[in-house]
Amino acid sequence: MGAFCQSRCGRAPRGCAYARWVTDVHRWDVPGRVNLIGEHLDYNGGPVLPLAIDRSVTVKARLRDDGVVNVWSDLPGAAKVTFTTSVQPGEVDDWASYAAGTIWSLVDAGHALTGVDLVIESRLPSGAGLSSSAATTCGIAAALNEAHDLGLDRTQIALLAQRAESDFVGAPVGLMDQLAVLYGAAGQAVQIDTSVNPHTTRLVPLGWEEDGLTLVVIATGAHHALADGEYAARREECERAAAELGIAWLAQATLDATVRLTDETLKARTRHVLTETARVRGAITAISRRSWAQLGTILTASHASLRDDFEVSSPELDVAVEAALEAGALGARMTGGGFGGSAIALVAPEKVQALRDRVEARYEARQWKRPEVFAVRAADGAHPVPTTSAKLDQ
Ligand code: ADP
Ligand code: MG
Repeated sequence: MGAFCQSRCGRAPRGCAYARWVTDVHRWDVPGRVNLIGEHLDYNGGPVLPLAIDRSVTVKARLRDDGVVNVWSDLPGAAKVTFTTSVQPGEVDDWASYAAGTIWSLVDAGHALTGVDLVIESRLPSGAGLSSSAATTCGIAAALNEAHDLGLDRTQIALLAQRAESDFVGAPVGLMDQLAVLYGAAGQAVQIDTSVNPHTTRLVPLGWEEDGLTLVVIATGAHHALADGEYAARREECERAAAELGIAWLAQATLDATVRLTDETLKARTRHVLTETARVRGAITAISRRSWAQLGTILTASHASLRDDFEVSSPELDVAVEAALEAGALGARMTGGGFGGSAIALVAPEKVQALRDRVEARYEARQWKRPEVFAVRAADGAHPVPTTSAKLDQ
């Protein structure tokens, strides 16, 4: 019997036979992402610059013909969850809501699904701000697209996965994460223009590694509460500011026009959106010139703006960034939605250990959980992995 039955349920799911696994399993590998720069811009019509990273989620899917969906996951304590292809919002919660939401999103878009057994295995910390959610939903949608021959392109998969997260799970996310994990490429970032629909993507070659630098993630382990209201509140504030200024997207505002905003909070949110938009353009120029010190300065300025104007940072993220800079990073910032999650730092590889020591010491002094510090590389986006008998036997 293949790894599916032995490692997940301990017994064969209905109809599962080794031979069927070899031929019928659709297996997709989908990376996580870090956003290099352009934070909280993807719902404001601004440019964003994420990169897919070399840590991924694997989704294995095998079709059923009885309308049943079984989901197994390697998340700690996750027991098998079962529902049907007619699942509706509110009927599945907790971790499996992302899988259920993806099924619902596909069916709601008119795709006839027949039921499926899904196995989700991850090398990406969940809830760390590295987009395990988009990796999971895009992996499920991509595997089902292949299994049912639905003919969806990557942008359509991204939109369906986004709908799962926003309308089923209840986290009103933008489209950056899904596009990043689907369109990423080794050694390159994905520049996304969110002012047009569908959003357009363009690969931006990076190159700091050739110049002796590395990108480090500091996963703070602090709660990443995207769905808990703060994120929705920022979106609502940005929409209100854009409406007051009479523009479709807040990123289209000018700094001069913001004097018309009477609310100081809306002014600060708008200031972040506009300065961050300028920083993305500055970062792309710095990358093209290989001006890494300049890029570092821009990253650190982005953090200050997110902390002071957009108010989405957290003590854990601020301390991570401060410690990284003290340890000699060229620049550092929180990445992702904020309120915990992860920070990134651009640093020479020989300084990574000092950075780790410094961050750990600062966390220990505050009696915070030890953060995870690791280097990442820009990696390929979602791709199918051939399921050979050798692989299933592992
Ligand atoms: P992030 O995307 O930053 O990791 P989120 O809170 O947006 O954080 O998404 C985390 C959710 O993604 C989990 O609660 C779960 O629903 C889903 N997920 C992540 N990893 C897995 C996994 N290995 N198996 C099943 N679901 C997963
Ligand atoms: Mg997420």
